[in-house]
Amino acid sequence: MKRRPFIKRIFQFSGGAYIGAQLPLMYGYKPLEKDKKLGIALVGLGNYSTGQLAPALLETKYCYLAGIVTGTKEKESIWSEKYNIPENNIYNYDNFDTLVDNEDIDIVYVVLPNSMHAEYAIRAAKAGKHVICEKPMATSVEDCKKMISACEEAGRKLSIGYRLHFDPFNDQMMRLGQNRVYGKMNMESGFAFNLSDPDRWRIKKAMAGGGPLMDLGVYCIQGCIYTFGELPTSVWAKNLTRNLDFFTEVEGTIEWEMTFPSGKAYCITSYEDRYGYLTANTEQGEMKLSPAFIYNGLKGYTPEGPMTVTPINQQAAQMDAFAINILQNAPSIVPGEMGLRDNYIIEKIYESAANGGVEVSLENIPNILDLRKE
Ligand code: NAD
Repeated sequence: MKRRPFIKRIFQFSGGAYIGAQLPLMYGYKPLEKDKKLGIALVGLGNYSTGQLAPALLETKYCYLAGIVTGTKEKESIWSEKYNIPENNIYNYDNFDTLVDNEDIDIVYVVLPNSMHAEYAIRAAKAGKHVICEKPMATSVEDCKKMISACEEAGRKLSIGYRLHFDPFNDQMMRLGQNRVYGKMNMESGFAFNLSDPDRWRIKKAMAGGGPLMDLGVYCIQGCIYTFGELPTSVWAKNLTRNLDFFTEVEGTIEWEMTFPSGKAYCITSYEDRYGYLTANTEQGEMKLSPAFIYNGLKGYTPEGPMTVTPINQQAAQMDAFAINILQNAPSIVPGEMGLRDNYIIEKIYESAANGGVEVSLENIPNILDLRKE
């Protein structure tokens, strides 16, 4: 009974369609004095940039698509026409560093294969730009540290493309979970899609750094951490790849279990299946997002019934939030240190799997959490 008014309040808080102007208030920032739009350059015009980020940049209030970096000549005129991008703001991988002279571009958004994130994030910082880097932040903890240092040295902000921190369904999981509204809990999370094209960079170790764990499992790691509101202390993992002829360089399926101070989280990720859920088994029943991690069509359930939240454009909210961080010189809620934290866990998961599932300590985990207050 005591909990009810609180639950009602947080449900109200998260409702509402995407209106960029609400963001400063939602994330506790000061309202902006005047409208100013920062220019974003997308680096790598593949599926995610084309299908999600560029369309989202038509909805953003504090940033817009000002430039592109592409190695494919034909894409230049297509993008320039579609998004009204001036010729001066079109770059390729060779003249990338001359971005330093372009005042239209405030933020460089790295949307390349994983192994290229570090190089382009560092070069962007050296060119004096703020950086958003897609997940996974890099293919090694060492590279994550170099990226953070490069941005610090350049006095520029670094944020990871963790869009679900700006999604109202996941926000609801964070608030209900972190406040233990339904009591103690253990968690389960899985994210998988079928990948059968042998030419995809996603199954090449040198380009991807790893298999579905790097690509999809990172959402499960994130989801369990932000629902518990705690850092895991140890992990064990097992490689469960079925098609060993196809997945010769990276895992096809992997399971792991993280121990948290107040419970366990069992996770699985795969390129040989299809699912996506984030579940908290609480003292009062199941609290769950399913589907949990996709761009739209998310659904949420609590022991009291379905979540009543209205979906928003996750990418627009994510990019606007970062633009506001820059405009107000406030820290990102998904900074480089969080990407480093997750790459650290990923490395330990691989270490455990390589050693037959032994329990591996996470004692050096970076201390960073996205905690949601009431
Ligand atoms: P993609 O393969 O569709 O696009 C990759 C782009 O990089 C292409 O335009 C390609 O031309 C370019 N590229 C430049 N050099 C390359 C090289 N040497 N080899 C291969 N491609 C090269 O991939 P994507 O699905 O757009 O993923 C890009 C990044 O975005 C990845 O890091 C991925 O994890 C991330 N991503 C994030 C989300 C999310 O929801 N946050 C969703 C999808 C992808």
